[in-house]
Amino acid sequence: MKLKKLAGALAVSLAAISAPAFAQDKGTVGIAMPTKSSARWIDDGNNMVKQLEEAGYATDLQYAEDDIPNQLAQIENMVTKGVDVLVIAAIDGTTLSNALANAAASGVRIVAYDRLIRDSGDVDYYATFDNFKVGVLQATSLVEGLESRFPDSKPWNVELFGGSPDDNNAYFFYDGAMSVLQPLIDAGDIVVQSGQMGMDKVGTLRWDGAVAQARMDNILSANYTDKDVHGVLAPYDGLSIGILSSLKGVGYGSGDLAMPIVTGQDAEVQSVKSILAGEQYSTIFKDTRELARVTVGMVNAVMEGSEPEVNDTTTYDNGVKVVPSYLLEPLPVDASNWEERLIGSGYYTEDQIK
Ligand code: BGC
Repeated sequence: MKLKKLAGALAVSLAAISAPAFAQDKGTVGIAMPTKSSARWIDDGNNMVKQLEEAGYATDLQYAEDDIPNQLAQIENMVTKGVDVLVIAAIDGTTLSNALANAAASGVRIVAYDRLIRDSGDVDYYATFDNFKVGVLQATSLVEGLESRFPDSKPWNVELFGGSPDDNNAYFFYDGAMSVLQPLIDAGDIVVQSGQMGMDKVGTLRWDGAVAQARMDNILSANYTDKDVHGVLAPYDGLSIGILSSLKGVGYGSGDLAMPIVTGQDAEVQSVKSILAGEQYSTIFKDTRELARVTVGMVNAVMEGSEPEVNDTTTYDNGVKVVPSYLLEPLPVDASNWEERLIGSGYYTEDQIK
């Protein structure tokens, strides 16, 4: 009897101790990320887990190593395990319709993260950056670089690279960049010597740096044995690094062969170092902490039945519906402002870069 009383008292006090933890247990969020081969997605995953856990959610974070069936299986598993919300950065934005229909039928809510999920009416919200503007900023930086490094070489020889054709973002980046470059091409200030233009010609499947490097090798040997290339539009740091290897391989950046202006995206550590070494010219900083913050707001809203903050309800038509979106601001980064933008904001420490 005495023992029973003690056990009862213990149970009560244990309940009292653990009660706040249960009050915090708002549900489980499955996070499907594309790959660990790029640092940005690792940061995205870590930021999401940190901020969701702080907000009281349990998380299940999975990376699919750019393998579409793998990502599909991960998402299906999360639904079977009973997640409440799915946050998905899709590898191929068109392959998830059935899985998402099943998820939605079990009451799971869906947020598209960074990349739009296409062909599905089950996507509730989309958190991303202003992807068209990313392209505008890349091309603007390219032109600024051409003006300062090659003031007397007009018309400038520029080659174009696009992102993965199965990633909706790739078209926005390309279209944004071409909104700046096409008028210069039309005016004869920029020449694409390879003639390769349009996403069907310049796309880089799975954002693969080795594919970009091989394509740059071919472009150089077919078009530039008797002329110099002055600039390369590269939409992502992983491609920029491959393109720079190709350029260095034929002597650019040494002797009197100036390094062409090469753009990028994501402000990955390797590329920031390359910018400081005078190789890559610029990148685009997208603060993944902010993307996580906006996404957590969307998760909260679908869980509580409230309205999240959105700032775009017209741009992202996924083929079935216009997905209400929040677009964050991308920022250009080059040798003149990296310290203020990347270190000053606390995104990186000085030690990581130097
Ligand atoms: C992202 C970019 C990234 C690219 C390659 C895109 O969907 O928006 O930030 O550079 O994927 O990972």
